[in-house]
Amino acid sequence: MVASTAEYPNVTERSGGFADLALHPELTRALVELGYEEPTPIQRAAVPPSLAGRDVVGQAATGTGKTAAFALPLLHHLAGAERGSAPRALVLVPTRELAAQVCEALQNYGRHLGTRVVPIYGGQPMGGQLRQLERGADVVVATPGRALDHLTRKSLRLDELRVVVLDEADEMLDMGFAEDIDTILGRTPDERQTLLFSATMPPKIAGLVRRYLREPERIELSRAESVTGEAALIRQTAYVVPRGHKPAALGRVLDMEAPTAAVVFCRTRDEVDRLTETMNARGYRAEALHGGMDQHQRDRVVGRLRAATADLVVATDVAARGLDIDQLTHVVNYDVPSAPDVYVHRIGRVGRAGREGSAITLAEPREHRMVGTIERVTGQRIAVENLPTVADLRARRWERTRAALREALLADSLDDEVDIDSLVAEFDAVRVARAAVKLAHEAGGGVADEEELPEARLDPRGGAGRERRNGSREGSRGGRTAKPPADDMTRLFVSLGRTAGVRPQDLVGAIAGESPLRGKDVGAIEIADRFSLVDVPRAAADDVITALRDSSIKGRKVTVRRERRRAR
Ligand code: AMP
Repeated sequence: MVASTAEYPNVTERSGGFADLALHPELTRALVELGYEEPTPIQRAAVPPSLAGRDVVGQAATGTGKTAAFALPLLHHLAGAERGSAPRALVLVPTRELAAQVCEALQNYGRHLGTRVVPIYGGQPMGGQLRQLERGADVVVATPGRALDHLTRKSLRLDELRVVVLDEADEMLDMGFAEDIDTILGRTPDERQTLLFSATMPPKIAGLVRRYLREPERIELSRAESVTGEAALIRQTAYVVPRGHKPAALGRVLDMEAPTAAVVFCRTRDEVDRLTETMNARGYRAEALHGGMDQHQRDRVVGRLRAATADLVVATDVAARGLDIDQLTHVVNYDVPSAPDVYVHRIGRVGRAGREGSAITLAEPREHRMVGTIERVTGQRIAVENLPTVADLRARRWERTRAALREALLADSLDDEVDIDSLVAEFDAVRVARAAVKLAHEAGGGVADEEELPEARLDPRGGAGRERRNGSREGSRGGRTAKPPADDMTRLFVSLGRTAGVRPQDLVGAIAGESPLRGKDVGAIEIADRFSLVDVPRAAADDVITALRDSSIKGRKVTVRRERRRAR
């Protein structure tokens, strides 16, 4: 069934919405169900040329909506094509985490098209993957190492491919997958469409583009208009929060800030609804504002915020368009916005007319690049801070109670009719005061918030940082065992070394591609003639051993185990 436009009048009829992209109706329907209201900038730019069959190079990091930017056109193309047993699209990604995510996104967007998406990455038994591939796949999402394994076994066919996507291409090259990518692409049909996404565009990406893409459309996220002087009055802060802790983190931050009136921006309608409920349960008067509501409902919500009968509005960008409230003190980005202009536009709603305002962003560790890009484009610093602790919050609440009591005392409007004489006759006056202050403090509200939230940091993988790390590895390559591993690291023995042509990047690539670790987690590497030693975080050592046992490095099986320490 195709969704009628009348059912979702605010989304499908608006210009600039998904309707403009003229995607297969079953895709548009899935997007409506997922609560997406409009395309992100990278989607708006990349989808039309991809739909037209052109090759595309998109510079976009995690958090911009880049997955849908290639997934939607890919699914659109496949929807109209005949189904065979060989896959018609291949998405190459650097890590198994990303493979799982991309797979889930494709399945979500393609839910009404019945598209068969098969992930193939290391750390999973080969048997299941072989059976799935045998049954038939429309799209294969793979890490290069595993894709090559299947090619060697002839369990993966590339001759019917129509679309190839290279996602996070810079990461793949940094992890040493260049040769694997060459081999894989060399076996795909010449007339394929190729889409390449990369957060950075170093020269080696240009090389890849030259070799494998044909007159591609090049897309960079637009530069935001520069922020005017008024922005100086806006305090800009980011907190790094793993996804699962975001609702609690938002509560904690708002409890600390005690905004007079705030807007919290979310990506989807469902998130707006969920978060409104959470915040109401936490004692806020929160209202939802999204594109599924009619104008009358929206006006009512805005009216409540203006009249201070609501403290919080939880909104999507679409619904908040034109929202203009002088009293607004805080803008919260529940996720990092999908482009710098979106950020600038959102935070421009506070700090009007010389007032002070706060812009707060909750970023997931992997959204590190978008925070950096926004800072660069706006020329404004965003202070990355640790979440307030339970103790911070308690202290702040007491501060507020104290301030309220001082105000009451200074105003000298205390009610003489309150009879405290009988209490003072029975108890010490200071104790009476203590009890009264305690009750006043408790009445000040706020739910008990006892859960310490984990401290997280922005994932610091940046181009320069990576090169430095690789450089230091180069330095230790082939050397003798130097220092023992750090306390939190375990040294693994890998049965291949220099004579097998193993380089540090091959080991990093295999570990990051096949195990839950990312390249940056891998510590010192030493390559001897017949073996290598790699330091990995102690907690992940078993996972790495299991994952590498199932895979191959430089086309050869390896033995991996903990290094047996020699007596020194
Ligand atoms: P990505 O940059 O592809 O990792 O996507 C970041 C997040 O944005 C994912 O959680 C997506 O589900 C979400 N997302 C992507 N496109 C949209 C959209 N047009 N509207 C709302 N959310 C989106």
